[in-house]
Amino acid sequence: MSSYSPPGLAPLFSPKALADRVLQMGDQIAKDYGAVLEPRESLLVIGVLNGAFIFMADLVRAINLPLEIDFIRLSSYQDQTESSAHVVMLKSLEMEVKNRHVLVVEDIADYGLTLAWLLDFLRQKGPKSLKLAVAINKNERRKVNLAIDYVGFEVQEGFLVGYGLDYAQNYRHLPGVHKLKAN
Ligand code: 5GP
Ligand code: MG
Repeated sequence: MSSYSPPGLAPLFSPKALADRVLQMGDQIAKDYGAVLEPRESLLVIGVLNGAFIFMADLVRAINLPLEIDFIRLSSYQDQTESSAHVVMLKSLEMEVKNRHVLVVEDIADYGLTLAWLLDFLRQKGPKSLKLAVAINKNERRKVNLAIDYVGFEVQEGFLVGYGLDYAQNYRHLPGVHKLKAN
């Protein structure tokens, strides 16, 4: 398949590089939870819509363990005066989190405010454990302490699209990750 790269985008992570890394992450996750899941327990994987849908689909297929899936959808805007985000839940969870081993899956961590809010929200529901996996960790602008358990790729800065990430709802379907070129 030829690789489609619209003008204005610079390829950053190829579909092959993403696929290889996601398989490694899945192996690591299966190994880690294989050691803690009790008989008849399964992992609860929570994807953050919309951005995480492609990474989530690839990652769960690489985790060789019993697991269940749920999604949450959040909208957040940042308060300029505080290190916090105002988060509105556009789609809530459908599964019980209490006493479950929960793995949150997100496309990218940037300021970290949305994920910090989500982890806090989930922690209050009393999970047995709570971990975070992100495809991309963009750490330069981080505003809060965020412990990320599984990182696909580290980048410093830039606006990225593809592999679920959008620019005004475009480009989510691109199989690789691209950097938006500055005009
Ligand atoms: P934050 O960590 O800043 O609270 O929120 C992270 C969210 O901002 C991500 O889930 C994503 O929706 C969006 N975001 C952050 N950096 C980027 C980026 O480089 N590209 C795209 N498309 N979205 C981003
Ligand atoms: Mg997102």
